[in-house]
Amino acid sequence: MSLASTPTADPWGYHTVRIHEITPEVADVATYHLGFDDSAVAAAYRFQPGQFNMLYLPGFGEVPISLSADPRSSTTWAHTVRAVGNVTQKLARSKVGDTLGLRGPFGSGWPLHTAEGHDVVLVAGGLGIAPLRPAIYELLRQANRFRSLTLLYGSRTPDTILFEHELPEWSQRGMSVQITVDRASPTWSGHVGVVTLLLDRLPLSDPQQTSVLMCGPEVMMRFVGKSALARGIPESQLWLSMERNMQCAIGLCGHCQLGPTFICKDGPVYRHDHLAPFLNVEGL
Ligand SMILES: Cc1cc2nc3c(=O)[nH]c(=O)nc-3n(C[C@H](O)[C@H](O)[C@H](O)COP(=O)(O)OP(=O)(O)OC[C@H]3O[C@@H](n4cnc5c(N)ncnc54)[C@H](O)[C@@H]3O)c2cc1C
Repeated sequence: MSLASTPTADPWGYHTVRIHEITPEVADVATYHLGFDDSAVAAAYRFQPGQFNMLYLPGFGEVPISLSADPRSSTTWAHTVRAVGNVTQKLARSKVGDTLGLRGPFGSGWPLHTAEGHDVVLVAGGLGIAPLRPAIYELLRQANRFRSLTLLYGSRTPDTILFEHELPEWSQRGMSVQITVDRASPTWSGHVGVVTLLLDRLPLSDPQQTSVLMCGPEVMMRFVGKSALARGIPESQLWLSMERNMQCAIGLCGHCQLGPTFICKDGPVYRHDHLAPFLNVEGL
């Protein structure tokens, strides 16, 4: 079931990509569907769920952004981006037909093969669902290889739930989807509270055969890790994606060093026990 990613022959080399479509998601967040101008590059481009690209907007800068769409889509692929600062706000002002530079894909992917035969639990916080979405497509496509699939998703409010229109389809295809919000609206009738509570309450038939993939704010991942360990899930079956700031994406500049590792090249997806000693240290 492994998906190869395109080896990046020249990690500094940019390809021109064009915005084919922009899907507004929630406030300040949109999904950009991109395509290569060069059809040969397009045909060769492959990524693994969990990997990221460096997007370059001339005159503004370059940012790492996870791939958020189906890894097997052969025409365009997508990045779901929150406009927070210089580069991402410029991207938010872009239009269909505009071009940008792209290098990638970079980094480690979700190791879905290690979860085969397991109950797979995905825990997402906020925009953390974007790097998990390619894994969701892949898990659903190969659902018979896993004992069960569960998505626990925490959002600040009901109107910041990402990919809401897709959730019913994921449920229909066999994934148990549970959502919680920090602050309810008058019409919200679902769970309220942090996503860790959903994990605490989730019935686990066999913790030893359970794998957890998580992405969200670091504080969320610390608590999810603790909860999963307390439930008896082996640490070697907990995986997380780190999204600290980075620059070169190839382990040279040192901006994203975390303990002995570089998030851009050793991550962003790590096994929990490889990172746990450094998770509580903010400045690393
Ligand atoms: C591996 C990886 C994958 C990512 N995937 C996505 C994604 O799919 N979608 C998405 O919207 N964002 C993602 N990010 C975060 C994204 O790279 C930053 O939001 C972006 O670099 C901000 O650049 P800017 O020029 O717009 O903001 P800046 O002007 O550089 O910064 C604006 C504010 O955002 C803060 N900031 C900058 N980078 C980060 C960061 N990495 N984490 C937290 N705060 C940051 C700054 O400290 C500042 O307060 C990812 C980051 C990494 C490392």
